[in-house]
Amino acid sequence: MIPNKATYRTTPQKKALLSLLRSTKAHPTAAWLFDRLRLEMPDVSQGTVYRNLSVLAEEGVIRVLRNGSAQDRFDADVSEHYHVICESCGKVEDISVNVRTDANSEAERASGYEIHSHRLDFYGVCPDCQRRAAVGDDAE
Ligand SMILES: [Zn+2]
Ligand SMILES: [Zn+2]
Repeated sequence: MIPNKATYRTTPQKKALLSLLRSTKAHPTAAWLFDRLRLEMPDVSQGTVYRNLSVLAEEGVIRVLRNGSAQDRFDADVSEHYHVICESCGKVEDISVNVRTDANSEAERASGYEIHSHRLDFYGVCPDCQRRAAVGDDAE
């Protein structure tokens, strides 16, 4: 059986993209994923990566972290969890604080909306950047 061209070209790339995202805890951007995927699949295009990311997000297999003006980041962990973002180096990490399951019903009562989800991000300075700041600018 000869697979049709679109299926043949798309599926292995989508699979590789998903396993790449699952291999990292860094909540990478599309550009980072594209650069890494290119090492495995030199002929992959940026458009394919972006398209597959939105398909995976639509399928609920991955999460998109929309970041205001900054670039979107992607997360293969679709369980409910919060993130902590370093204001100095921009890294995004999972933070293990309890998810506020009561917040959705509180928001429903306050708004009359049927609430499906909420997000809560923590911003600060990561331990690495705190250390770099403590060392002073002789590191530069
Ligand atoms: Zn940092
Ligand atoms: Zn995460």
